Amino acid sequence: MDFELPEELRLLKDNVRKFVDKELIPLERQTVNDVKLQKELPKKLRSKVDELGIWGYDVPEELGGLGLGMLAKVIIWSEVSRTTALPSRALSIFGFPVSPILYTLEGRAREEYLLPVVNGQKTSCFAQTEADAGSDPAAMRTTAVRDGDDYVINGVKRFITGADEVDFAQVFAVTDTEKRARGGITGFLVDMNSPGLTVSASYDLMVDDKPCELVFDNVRVPAWKRIGQEGDGFKHAQSWLNSGRVRHGARSLGVMERCFELGTAYAKQRKTFGAYLADRQSVQWPLTEIYMDMHKLRLMLYHAAWKYDRGEDCREEAFMCKIFGDERSFWAADRVMQIHGGMGLSKELPIERFFRDQRSMMITEGAVEVLRMALARMILNVR
Ligand SMILES: Cc1cc2nc3c(=O)[nH]c(=O)nc-3n(C[C@H](O)[C@H](O)[C@H](O)COP(=O)(O)OP(=O)(O)OC[C@H]3O[C@@H](n4cnc5c(N)ncnc54)[C@H](O)[C@@H]3O)c2cc1C
Repeated sequence: MDFELPEELRLLKDNVRKFVDKELIPLERQTVNDVKLQKELPKKLRSKVDELGIWGYDVPEELGGLGLGMLAKVIIWSEVSRTTALPSRALSIFGFPVSPILYTLEGRAREEYLLPVVNGQKTSCFAQTEADAGSDPAAMRTTAVRDGDDYVINGVKRFITGADEVDFAQVFAVTDTEKRARGGITGFLVDMNSPGLTVSASYDLMVDDKPCELVFDNVRVPAWKRIGQEGDGFKHAQSWLNSGRVRHGARSLGVMERCFELGTAYAKQRKTFGAYLADRQSVQWPLTEIYMDMHKLRLMLYHAAWKYDRGEDCREEAFMCKIFGDERSFWAADRVMQIHGGMGLSKELPIERFFRDQRSMMITEGAVEVLRMALARMILNVR
């Protein structure tokens, strides 16, 4: 067993950390109330990202990217998550964001949707959630009914990140009401300017994201824009969610590392009642807990990524990374906020943003209770 990162990954980690420290962290005060500026940063910093040499790190080599493995991605995701300069969802500074589902496209769909996304000419969102189908997407009501060479989609999706800004949506709809999760849900590529499709509302949340509601009123989609075979929808969504869960864990590690840095620096400089906060046991203990959690999460992530890169089933590990990472990073932000007193609540520091974002991560892309339920099924071997 070897616990050392390979030389090239240590170098990658160092370089991304330097980039974040030099180019992103100094911008946090400017971007704090300016989501537009956060979204513009990838373009503004493009030449510096090119110098770093990791543009397209997650795009397969045959499509012109670097095709890095999961362990390298974990390193990049966790390092870049130490900053709040960028949007916390759909992070894309080292390449255009490509939903992994799109890599499964073939023929005309690959030419007209995957390639333009990889090249930054088109953007997409992921539309699965509905009012009565969030944690339990199999309960979705949106239907897609075959009509000649088309499908006709009807229904309402909600909480769809970026729907008001993108070119097309990956929409999941019921094609067989009997089968549902077992082969009755299908994915489609739907252009946002399709007749009958409207962005009807956006939600004002405690986080900066403003996900939207989408109404489909007899939206016609040609059959070639179906993602894979009819009924394959959940298979594709699941493959995406696995790496998404590891990504959540990696994000949590970056957040914890930054919170730990801020908490220890402040505790060593702030004196109350004639002593540094760092000398008080009640301040030392949360910092040591965060330190131990970081160590645990790092090992969990590296192990999950190692299994993923070997082509082994890492669903259990991916669940654990998301549950543990989301919960402990939120706890870390909360404790480091407390150590900072009133300054912890201030927008001059990134802590309040970490606190809000990590709270939301315990609900999105699988609420922690639902992931525990799925994990229990696997490890207890029950239904
Ligand atoms: C900022 C943001 C961005 C989002 N972006 C997208 C997007 O781009 N695309 C998309 O499709 N969706 C998106 N969503 C939707 C998100 O995935 C759902 O909100 C999430 O799946 C939870 O669904 P829900 O809100 O309907 O909660 P519900 O499913 O109603 O669950 C409510 C709560 O009940 C508990 N719970 C649920 N089931 C169980 C169970 N079996 N056992 C124990 N407890 C349980 C959990 O604590 C859960 O938080 C986004 C949401 C937010 C807030």
